[in-house]
Amino acid sequence: MVSHSSRIELSQSALKANINFLRKKVGDGVRISCVVKANAYGHGISSYVPMAEKCGIDHFSVASSFEAEEALEVCRPDTRIMIMGILYDADIPWAVENGIEFYVFNVARLPLVINVAKKLGIPARIHLEAETGANRTGLTLKEMGKCLTMVKKHSEHIEFEGLCTHFAGAETFANDFKIQKQYTLFQDFYALCKKRKVMPKMRHLASSAAALSFAKSRYEMVRVGVAQYGFWPSPDVYYHHLTSNGKNSEKGLRRIFSWKTDVMDVRKVHEGEFIGYGTAYQATRDMTIAVLPLGYSNGYPRGLSNRGHVLIKGKKAPITGLINMNLFMVDISHIPGVHPGEEVVLIGRQGNNSIGVASFTQTTQLVNQEMMSRLPQAIPRKSVR
Ligand SMILES: *Cc1c(COP(=O)(O)O)cnc(C)c1O
Repeated sequence: MVSHSSRIELSQSALKANINFLRKKVGDGVRISCVVKANAYGHGISSYVPMAEKCGIDHFSVASSFEAEEALEVCRPDTRIMIMGILYDADIPWAVENGIEFYVFNVARLPLVINVAKKLGIPARIHLEAETGANRTGLTLKEMGKCLTMVKKHSEHIEFEGLCTHFAGAETFANDFKIQKQYTLFQDFYALCKKRKVMPKMRHLASSAAALSFAKSRYEMVRVGVAQYGFWPSPDVYYHHLTSNGKNSEKGLRRIFSWKTDVMDVRKVHEGEFIGYGTAYQATRDMTIAVLPLGYSNGYPRGLSNRGHVLIKGKKAPITGLINMNLFMVDISHIPGVHPGEEVVLIGRQGNNSIGVASFTQTTQLVNQEMMSRLPQAIPRKSVR
């Protein structure tokens, strides 16, 4: 197999530290479902799922049947996969056959599911999603009532795995009035289940932010996305952690991810010459530059033209000129002895320096998750210690 122009390394030890940290936070009785939608926030589903399983994770949440299929290919036989978003009617038989859990977020879906389960002779594993204020997907109380009636009537074809909802903005504490309202409304849905004597195996509401800062919302399972990858969901949540944990709170979450490439070529540029397309960068002195074999089509943001830097031999090498589709150039005049093939760190640590995802996102207006999830699937991911 030929080489790709960059590579992503995932630290098993950092992931283990994060999962342990989260377990301690949410408590022993609470199951952690790792949210691996968007190609595991750019980390790569097929590499990431087995790494998380090594840390004891046995439940994964995805956004689509397409992602579920990818996770299914690499996971252990008794690991559970849950689709929170799109599952097309045509794919319901596939989901039921493979024991995939999925959300039911409108009434029309349930009869279809029951039919499929009947035909296959395999119970469908469903989660009923409550509409509590996000106005995204989910059942109103009245619709929930209808669904519970059907679930009760066809209980041999339905495994009622979960009752769930999603907070609309728990990472920003200014949204608290809204979050509390959702939380309260969710109690009504649970009360309805009790009244009808149709009980879910578990309740789950919390994503990273609520799991970390809203203890009451943890119930039997939390759906943790961004935090497992080592990112605090927001300054609010981080501040909450610092104030509730005092001094020994520094060892919190660790980044799992590094992104690397290597120098493609090294060349001299004379004072006054331009580097790359147009006139974006003019050499103010004689310079040595390194050419790197990736660009915006490989997920490196074009917004970093003339502003970002990479690490070479542990030193910062500033970007000179525009990020091209498949190339960009950096200034290495101050870094002697660089040859083609030299390792370049795009995100991560090298020597005493490091570049975080945040240093990208501040200049490009991307949010961390957005930047990460845009990294092409074609970049190879590899687990390291
Ligand atoms: C993305 C998502 C999560 C995880 O969110 P994070 O903030 O990354 O932890 C949880 N639940 C649902 C329904 C989601 O769409």
